[in-house]
Amino acid sequence: MASQDPVNPSHAAFDLFIQAQTCKDVQRYFAELCKQVEVDPKDFRSFYTKLKERLNYWKAKALWTKLDKRASHPDYEQGKVCAKNKCLVLGAGPCGLRTAIELSLLGAQVVVVEKRETFSRNNVLHLWPYTIYDLRGLGAKKFYGRFCTGALDHISIRQLQLILLKVSLLLGVEVHTGVDFQGLIEPSGDKGWTAKLHPGCHPAAAFQFDVFISAGGGRFIPDGFKHKELRGKLAIGITANFINRHTAAEAQVAEISGVARIYNQKFFQDLLTATGIDLENIVYYKDDTHYFVMTAKKKSLLKKGVIKQDYSDAEELLAPANVDHEALCCYAREAAHFSTGGQLPDLQFAQNHAGRPDVAMFDFTCMHRAENASLVKERKGKKLLIGLVGDCLVEPFWPLGTGIARGFLAAFDAAWMVRSWGKGTAPLKVLSERESVYQLLSQTTPENTSKNYAGYSIDPSTRYQHINFSSIKANQVRTLSVVSLTDSVGGFDELIKWCQKHTAGYENVNVKDLTQSWRSGLALCALIHHFRPQLIDMSTLDESNAVHNNQLAFSILERELGISPIMSASDMASSGQIDKLSMVLYLTQIQDAFEINQF
Ligand code: FAD
Repeated sequence: MASQDPVNPSHAAFDLFIQAQTCKDVQRYFAELCKQVEVDPKDFRSFYTKLKERLNYWKAKALWTKLDKRASHPDYEQGKVCAKNKCLVLGAGPCGLRTAIELSLLGAQVVVVEKRETFSRNNVLHLWPYTIYDLRGLGAKKFYGRFCTGALDHISIRQLQLILLKVSLLLGVEVHTGVDFQGLIEPSGDKGWTAKLHPGCHPAAAFQFDVFISAGGGRFIPDGFKHKELRGKLAIGITANFINRHTAAEAQVAEISGVARIYNQKFFQDLLTATGIDLENIVYYKDDTHYFVMTAKKKSLLKKGVIKQDYSDAEELLAPANVDHEALCCYAREAAHFSTGGQLPDLQFAQNHAGRPDVAMFDFTCMHRAENASLVKERKGKKLLIGLVGDCLVEPFWPLGTGIARGFLAAFDAAWMVRSWGKGTAPLKVLSERESVYQLLSQTTPENTSKNYAGYSIDPSTRYQHINFSSIKANQVRTLSVVSLTDSVGGFDELIKWCQKHTAGYENVNVKDLTQSWRSGLALCALIHHFRPQLIDMSTLDESNAVHNNQLAFSILERELGISPIMSASDMASSGQIDKLSMVLYLTQIQDAFEINQF
C-alpha cells in the first residue's frame, strides 16, 4: 500500500513527519521533507503554497483541505492583514504554538523560541468541546489518529505540542528549540526591537519584530507586566502517570472525569478508611499514559509520611527536602489503585523528562493572574506590541482543566489584537479593546461561551456571549502605552507632523517644534477644534492671552478626554518653561485619544 511503503521519497518524508513522536523527529523529518520538495522554509510567505504544489500526495491533500478551510476565513483577509508584521513568540507550549499558527494565518512573519529541546510532559489536559473542534479543524486526527475518539475529551501535553508544532511548521512558522529568551533589546540606530537570547549567536537574535507574544508558562512575567496573586486555602495537587500498555483489561477501566468531594462523599470516605488517603478531588484520564491528578489534604500527607514536617508556609511545606519521594509514589499509586477499583493490573510509573517515576506534587494555594494582557512600548520611534497568552496570563487550577480552554481563547484574542495592530489602529484603541476582552476570560465556562463552534474565529464576538469591546476606555489603559522619555526629541518627527496636519490653516498657529510653538495655547486649542469644533470657539481667542488659552485647552482636555495637564497654564505661557518630554507625553495622549475617535 502506498502509505506503508511509499516509493516516492517526498511521500515517505511526509509520512515520517506526520507520524513523528518527538520534537526532534518532527524537526528532522520536516527538514527532510523541505529538502525533498525543494522548498525553503525561510520563505515563509509562499512556503505553504509551494509545499502544496510540489507534494502531490493524497494523504497530504486531505490535510491541505483542512488547513485551507481555516486559512480562507475572512478574518485573515487572505493572509494580507498582517503581512507587514513580524512577531516573536516566546515558548512552544500549546498556547505559544496555537498563537503562532493564528499569526501566520494573518500573514505575519512568525518566529518561536523555546528553551527546551524536548516535549516531555505526559500530563493530560482536559479539552472543552470547542478546543476539540478547533484541533480537528487543524488536522489533529491526521497527526494523531487517537485524537479524541468517541467521548474522549483530553490529550497529553506533549502530544498536543507535537500536533501544533507540525501545523506551525507547515504554515511557515520558524520554531527554534534550545533557545532561551532572556529579555528584550531596545532599538538602536536602524535596528528595531530584538531579543536577547541564549545562545547569543543564534540566528533568531537578529530577528527584528514589532509584536512580542509571551507564552512562557506559569511564572514567566515579562518586564512591564504586573501579576495579581490570588491566595486561596492550602491546595496541594499531585499528578501521577502510569504506563499504558493498551491491553484489553486496561481498556475496560472507566475514567474519572472529576469526582469532587461534595458530590461523592462516600467515595472519599471509603478511600480514607481503606488507605488513610484524604482527597478533595481526583481525575483519571486514560491517554498515552494512565494519568491521575488529585488534590490531597495536608494532614493525610503528613500522616502517610509524604510530607516530613509541618510548616504553615506552603513553599517550605512542599520544598523538595521536605518531601519523601518514595512515600509520594506509594500515596499516588494507592490512590490510583483504589479509585479504579483495583482494575488497573500493573501500576508501573511512566518516566518523566529526567527518567524518574512521573509523579509530582504542586502548590495551588497561590494562583497568579496578570493584571493586563497587553502593553505597547515605544523607543526611538519604534513601537512594540506585547501580549500575554496561556499560563503566564492566567494560571489554571489543573484539576479543573481550564488551562487549554482559556489558553486558546486568549491565543485567539491576542491574534485579534495583532490583527488590529496590523491594520494600523491607534495603540490605545488596540490596548483598550484587548483589555476589555480580557475582562471576560476568567469567567468563561463551556456553558457561557458560544455553542456554535463552527463559527469560532479570532474575532472575540464569535466566542464570548456578552462582549463589549469598549468596557475599558482608552484613558484607562494609558499607562500601558509606554513611550521612552529618554528618546531624543528628534525621534518625534511623526508626532510633530501629526500636529501640523491637524492644526494647518488656523490663524497664528504654526507648529514647528514641541516647545515654543505651543506657548500661546492656540495650537492646543486648534487641535481640539479640529477634532471637536463644538467644544471651543476659536474666534473668541486672543494670541496675547496665553494663560487663558492654555487653561481653556487644559480644562477641555481633562474634562472631555480625561487627560491631566502636565504643567500649569502660566508655565506653559512663559517662554523657557515648556519641557519637551512632558509635551511629548501630553501630545501623544491627545493623539491617541482623538485617533481612537470614541470620545
Ligand atoms: P506551557 O505549556 O508551560 O509552555 C511554556 C513554554 O515556554 C515551555 O515550553 C517553556 O519551556 C517555555 N519557556 C519558558 N521560559 C522560556 C524562556 N525564557 N525562553 C524560551 N522558552 C521558555 N495542566 C493541566 O491541566 N493538568 C496537568 O496535569 C498539568 N501539568 C503540568 C505540568 C507541568 C510541569 C507544567 C509546567 C504545566 C502543567 N499544566 C497542567 C499546565 C498546562 O501545561 C498549561 O496550562 C498548558 O500547557 C498551556 O500552557 P502554556 O502554553 O501557556 O505554557
